[in-house]
Amino acid sequence: MDDLGWCPLPSCGSLATIEKDQGFGKCQHCAFIFCLDCKERHHPYKRCIINRLDLFDLISQDEKENIDHKNKLAETALNNIFFKYCAKYCPNSKCGIRIQKIQSGCTKMQCPRCYHHFCWVCLHDAKGLKHYKENPDCEIEDGRLQPEAITPQLKEKHLMEGEDYVNLKFCARCPHCNAVNEKRTRKNALDCRKCHKTFCYICNKPIKGLEHYSGKSLCHVESDFYADF
Ligand SMILES: [Zn+2]
Ligand SMILES: [Zn+2]
Ligand SMILES: [Zn+2]
Ligand SMILES: [Zn+2]
Ligand SMILES: [Zn+2]
Ligand SMILES: [Zn+2]
Repeated sequence: MDDLGWCPLPSCGSLATIEKDQGFGKCQHCAFIFCLDCKERHHPYKRCIINRLDLFDLISQDEKENIDHKNKLAETALNNIFFKYCAKYCPNSKCGIRIQKIQSGCTKMQCPRCYHHFCWVCLHDAKGLKHYKENPDCEIEDGRLQPEAITPQLKEKHLMEGEDYVNLKFCARCPHCNAVNEKRTRKNALDCRKCHKTFCYICNKPIKGLEHYSGKSLCHVESDFYADF
């Protein structure tokens, strides 16, 4: 026999059939299909709003301090990467200010302070196009440029594990041990950093292996967290 419950629509309130495993209920009178947790319209493949730690302030003072601390470390690490890989010093010895490359594509740079013209790739003087004719490796349109900003690739290469910013919006609480975990990749199966057990980021249920994502599952194995948080 199916479980029974009540339709959450205030205008209705009739008997509803509850699909516990699937996480939704269906009103027998008005046919409204609703999420068992938030009581809003059923939202397959999407995280339930009640699991959003950022919206409901569901974290303790300790957890908050821990995240603040991690974010301070992340800021230092990201600053280091930025000034090592995305910025250079003006090669004019009388100047030497730190310059961020802003025009994408072109490697012909002019210092905003001393107006010195130089090549971003080799840092030699480069006023006209002569430098690039003589040094084709420094070509003006060069795909090997330093990035203007920190790219995911730079992060992957130079950030240590867990050194990136923690965004509460993409955090979930482990249903096994209650620890706060971050979603860092497209994968929705998260291994808890504390108890090392697995749970699903979308439905927040304990899972074993990837079986959870096969068949009639209402959770995708991967999702873009900007769309499906
Ligand atoms: Zn109803
Ligand atoms: Zn919901
Ligand atoms: Zn300069
Ligand atoms: Zn050059
Ligand atoms: Zn855990
Ligand atoms: Zn799930």
